[in-house]
Amino acid sequence: MTESVEQLAAVRDAIARAAGSQPPATLVAVSKTYDAEAILPVLEAGQRVFGENRVQEAMAKFPALRERFPDIELHLIGPLQSNKAAEAVAVFDVIETVDREKIAKALAVEMAKQGRTPRLYVQVNIGEEPQKAGIAPAEAVAFVARCRDVHGLTIEGLMCIPPAEDEPGPHFDRLADLARAAGLDRLSMGMSGDYETAIAHGATSVRVGSAIFGARPKPV
Ligand SMILES: *Cc1c(COP(=O)(O)O)cnc(C)c1O
Repeated sequence: MTESVEQLAAVRDAIARAAGSQPPATLVAVSKTYDAEAILPVLEAGQRVFGENRVQEAMAKFPALRERFPDIELHLIGPLQSNKAAEAVAVFDVIETVDREKIAKALAVEMAKQGRTPRLYVQVNIGEEPQKAGIAPAEAVAFVARCRDVHGLTIEGLMCIPPAEDEPGPHFDRLADLARAAGLDRLSMGMSGDYETAIAHGATSVRVGSAIFGARPKPV
């Protein structure tokens, strides 16, 4: 059996265990940097939800895979530039990285134009790191409200990537608090190193790449 398929099964088991009596978190298999050939066995093993962090890379790989597996659900988990909004709306089913006014506006325009309504998450820069994307925690609740009231967008939940050097638990709790304050109940948090912790702190979806596909050749 392909190694990624064994690892997929192990991750699924761990997610089920971490859930306890709760509904299990959705597994977003992060396939960035892996080509279609590497993704195929994971599709054949039944995985349908995938995450990519670049619009161009997703457009190069997924249309062909979707011909064979029309029920793929593709998530954008990397930063979005407003000049890529049209392509993002066309190719993604979920956009997890709405983090500023300009993007909210560009997505609203494209969704109206294309008649497509990808589900949306607001990304929060939970550790307030200067180099990281995401809206500041202090502005997150108001931003969710503006997405709805000004741009007519339905926001499904919040997403975050805690600082690599910190204990993730307190950051996950803070994201859950912000979601509650914003009236949202979906939380995209947790990656290969901390998805079980994230589930214990309320994650409803986890984004897991290297624990399934193996270490990526270069950090992305
Ligand atoms: C790459 C990436 C992941 C997956 O990371 P792993 O550590 O390989 O599981 C999750 N979320 C985002 C936003 C990413 O860019």
